[in-house]
Amino acid sequence: DRIISGEQQGREDEIEQSLRPELLSQYIGQEKTKHNLSIFIEAAKMREEPLDHTLLYGPPGLGKTTLASIIANEMEVQFRTTSGPAVERAGDLAAILSSLEAGDVLFIDEIHRLPRSVEEVLYPAMEDFCLDIVVGTGPSARSVRLDLPPFTLVGATTRAGLLSAPLRDRFGVHGRLEFYSNEALSDIIRRTAEIFNVSIDEEASDEIASRSRGTPRIANRLLKRVRDIAQVKGESEISLATAREALGMLQVDEDGLDHIDHKLLLALMDSFRGGPVGVDTMAATIGEESQTIEDVYEPFLLQKGYIQRTPRGRTATPKTYMHFDRETPGGS
Ligand code: ADP
Repeated sequence: DRIISGEQQGREDEIEQSLRPELLSQYIGQEKTKHNLSIFIEAAKMREEPLDHTLLYGPPGLGKTTLASIIANEMEVQFRTTSGPAVERAGDLAAILSSLEAGDVLFIDEIHRLPRSVEEVLYPAMEDFCLDIVVGTGPSARSVRLDLPPFTLVGATTRAGLLSAPLRDRFGVHGRLEFYSNEALSDIIRRTAEIFNVSIDEEASDEIASRSRGTPRIANRLLKRVRDIAQVKGESEISLATAREALGMLQVDEDGLDHIDHKLLLALMDSFRGGPVGVDTMAATIGEESQTIEDVYEPFLLQKGYIQRTPRGRTATPKTYMHFDRETPGGS
């Protein structure tokens, strides 16, 4: 299940941390973004300047945080992190910014969730490396300008469209992360297995890859569960049969859809006769947040052709009906 306790979440975060590749050359897939970044990083290093502010966007688990920390490693600078919801007041951000050292990478995850008042502090910081601070209150209040060391802001968001235009425009580099191919995911799974010190049959890693929704975080999570089952069975190498058995137990179907995807698609076919239906209505029906549906579930379902987005809402496709062994209404 995706809901896990705080303590377990902490442990999962630690494991995730240990799996993060440290250099661009170890980062699998995303060739275009990787290639562009490698050139920009090399040029910035030659000029002895920080890298331009970089915006990374794409669904959760595709490697935005990982890539941000790789940028810091490649630039040989410190990596500082925070997130949009964690920075509540302008003063919080001012404190973070004024503690940076020259060249540092500041990573702001979920940057679209920064309050507008905080965002405004970022503009001069990004553009001119300075902070405008208001000292005092009432008629004696005045604005003081503080210089900041040059730094690189790396922002991450699920969709670039969620950012206000003035913020988006202040990023010189935009990197869109795509869902991974099965081959790339299989490589990631074998790399993770090596770190876990377990061996895995190639057919088994391919099988897990094909059910990982194009997402490294999911691939690694599924591998962990498959490894548990292999261990209990006393298998020295994870086999295809064990991978299939474990994935069945986890209710991940052969196309990587899980029980929430199923709930969503079944509601679309049964409660809304295939749509069109608005995302808010659908969210209320299955008891999920609209934002979660839009960020986590929908991108993959859209890419795989299980749903279509129309101006009037989401609709099911012939592929949806086929997946559930049903006749497409209207007989098409
Ligand atoms: P995001 O910030 O986009 O939600 P993360 O950077 O936290 O995603 O990545 C999730 C997990 O997937 C991490 O544990 C990381 O090790 C792994 N991962 C992501 N991208 C790659 C990649 N290209 N190669 C290898 N592992 C990756």
